[in-house]
Amino acid sequence: MQSASIENKGYFGEFGGSFVPEELQLVMDQIEGNFLKYKDDPEFIEEFKYYLREYVGRENPLTFAGRLTNELGGAKIYLKREDLNHTGSHKINNAIGQILLAKRMGLKRIIAETGAGQHGVATATACAMFGMECVIYMGKLDTERQALNVFRMELLGAKVVPVEKGQGRLKDAVDEALNDLVQNYKTTFYLLGSAVGPHPYPTMVKHFQAIISEESKRQILDKEGRLPTAVVACAGGGSNAIGAFAHYIEEKDVRLIGAEPAEAPTLSEGVPAVIHGFKCITLLDENGEPKPTYSIAAGLDYPGVGPEHSFLKTSGRAEYVTVTGQEALEAFKLLSKVEGIIPALESSHAIAHAVKLAKELSTEDVIVVNLSGRGDKDVEQVFHMLSK
Ligand SMILES: *Cc1c(COP(=O)(O)O)cnc(C)c1O
Repeated sequence: MQSASIENKGYFGEFGGSFVPEELQLVMDQIEGNFLKYKDDPEFIEEFKYYLREYVGRENPLTFAGRLTNELGGAKIYLKREDLNHTGSHKINNAIGQILLAKRMGLKRIIAETGAGQHGVATATACAMFGMECVIYMGKLDTERQALNVFRMELLGAKVVPVEKGQGRLKDAVDEALNDLVQNYKTTFYLLGSAVGPHPYPTMVKHFQAIISEESKRQILDKEGRLPTAVVACAGGGSNAIGAFAHYIEEKDVRLIGAEPAEAPTLSEGVPAVIHGFKCITLLDENGEPKPTYSIAAGLDYPGVGPEHSFLKTSGRAEYVTVTGQEALEAFKLLSKVEGIIPALESSHAIAHAVKLAKELSTEDVIVVNLSGRGDKDVEQVFHMLSK
């Protein structure tokens, strides 16, 4: 039975909510209660900040991309350096936050789903550091295509469970993880990797990723004495983007821009629907099922997007644009060459849009781009694409 949460929480306009079977709803309520209890607890905040500083390496810099700015001749471009975090992306911020919550709840077993493996690796890393048992569900097909990430997770002490059911993809891995949670919720915490899923996950993930804009706002005020003209971030499920936007949402003069892959243009072409336990704007196929997408950036390959982005889009507070794989690839090469920074293919979508935008704006303007991750993981893929 699918049943909507009766409470009016976890809604962003009409989006969000919790559309899960009753037994799972009880687990969500428990997580929500604990999240609300600890999120403003000074000791909890202190512990979270401790690990962000000592383990992740925060705060990371807001680097002025001087050569890129000069080359384009328009707005000043600054890069928020999530690529410098331990494990190479923003995902670790959320993994640490949720594990600390699990710890407070007395749970010692962590489960997660992963598609390309990046969230699985971030989760396995954090579990190793906290000495937690870690089980990662991954579609069988994905384990074959991402054998090296499977090995990484195993090195980190995680158990990777290949899911053969269905099509052996991310969705099937999510279903298995949810089954596990319903069976084992007394010992187990489900560590979700993006700003998606039933309430309280989108709110919780935003809370932990908001550190990105908490820092960048202070940093840009320090460096420029003003707020940016625009903040640009790539959007898959939307966790790095919501973290990069969070502290600017109330600053109405700051343009918030999400860059999605033209090959998975969720917010540009999607419709409102309930998928994976929450309501969002999503791409559906002719049978009303989530539509399979293909982006060169595995982390952006998701037919839905977080509920708050769905709301920011429909309310007009944020803009969402599409960037093609080819444009992202050009941005990948450009940033590597002129700044000595190899960006993740996901982040390259944000860079590509910032390049277009900088040329339209004046030299008085300032753009903050969220560099969500480093591109080491993508070098081999780009090598094969370019040698074709
Ligand atoms: C996973 C990932 C993304 C996409 O996920 P969001 O939840 O949309 O942030 C973007 N960039 C990098 C580097 C990633 O690893």
